[in-house]
Amino acid sequence: MKAAFLKKLNSELEIDDIEEPEPGDDEVVIEQRYTGICYRDILTMQGFQPRVNIPVIPGHEISGRIIKKGKNVESFNINERVSSLIYIPCGKCEFCLSGNENLCVNKRIFGESVNGAYRKYINVNMNSLVHVPDNVPEESSVIAACVTGMIIHALRLGNISEKKTVLITGAGGGVGMHAIEIAKTYGATVIAETTSEWKKKAIYEAGADYVVSGSYSKDVKNYGGADIVLEIVGKDTFNESLRSLKTGGSLVLIGNVRPASAEMPIGLIIMKGNRIIGSLSSTRKDVSEALQLSSEKRISPRIFDKVSLNDVNRAFDDMINKRNNGRILIDLNK
Ligand SMILES: [Zn+2]
Ligand SMILES: [Zn+2]
Repeated sequence: MKAAFLKKLNSELEIDDIEEPEPGDDEVVIEQRYTGICYRDILTMQGFQPRVNIPVIPGHEISGRIIKKGKNVESFNINERVSSLIYIPCGKCEFCLSGNENLCVNKRIFGESVNGAYRKYINVNMNSLVHVPDNVPEESSVIAACVTGMIIHALRLGNISEKKTVLITGAGGGVGMHAIEIAKTYGATVIAETTSEWKKKAIYEAGADYVVSGSYSKDVKNYGGADIVLEIVGKDTFNESLRSLKTGGSLVLIGNVRPASAEMPIGLIIMKGNRIIGSLSSTRKDVSEALQLSSEKRISPRIFDKVSLNDVNRAFDDMINKRNNGRILIDLNK
């Protein structure tokens, strides 16, 4: 089968032919139709992930049908559909044992410390797996861990509920468009921030109540201020986001597109009693909830493009230049 490899940082991925994998004792082999391209994959290529083991097959957005399984795998069977976490939790540390496996201190991340998803057949540890309901489209199951489940995790940390106002930065991108829809399922008011004028129509169609841009904290305050900021962009919007918060509001950090540190107005945070929270990936519970929302047709996948594995470098370029408003998937049947 074909697989894409990152062999050198800051270089294009290369397509090689490799053997199809066999499952280890604790693993299944999954046949994938799609895998998602994540901004994290681009940051890995650019050298921002310290623990990357090069050469590596990138990609961590995994779902499909089980075609083989190892002898210790009991809860999952051949032909069943599954989604995978983006990492392999150890199952033994204090975080794994308390249902917070996203914080596992021993986790191995697909596409970085172990070979990832840019290939049709992938071997996955059973500790990473979640069952997928039959009626969930494959375009939804593939983004359940890194997009929709991750957003659910972050909104929960921000204490999302009905009548709260959520500000979403970078709302026109792959994560942002899904975040708008998920925040609306909780009954929240959604203010969406974007720097791309052409994305505004789609952002409103996704359910945003207001769209802001530029120095947006004034506008957000005019709309009543934010109880929760879902900070997808990171450093570049951090200060405007902080100033958009209501007293007692929470800023939940989920992304930092241009990795760098932000200045922090400590006095302002104290005076307004704000909370700043880092939110990392998703747990199996989050992924199950995301799949349930898809099964109930309360959220739908926002796919910008489906490309072949051979076109992965062009897709990276589209994302770096913000030409996508929705997820780009690799179609492994192409
Ligand atoms: Zn991802
Ligand atoms: Zn662990």
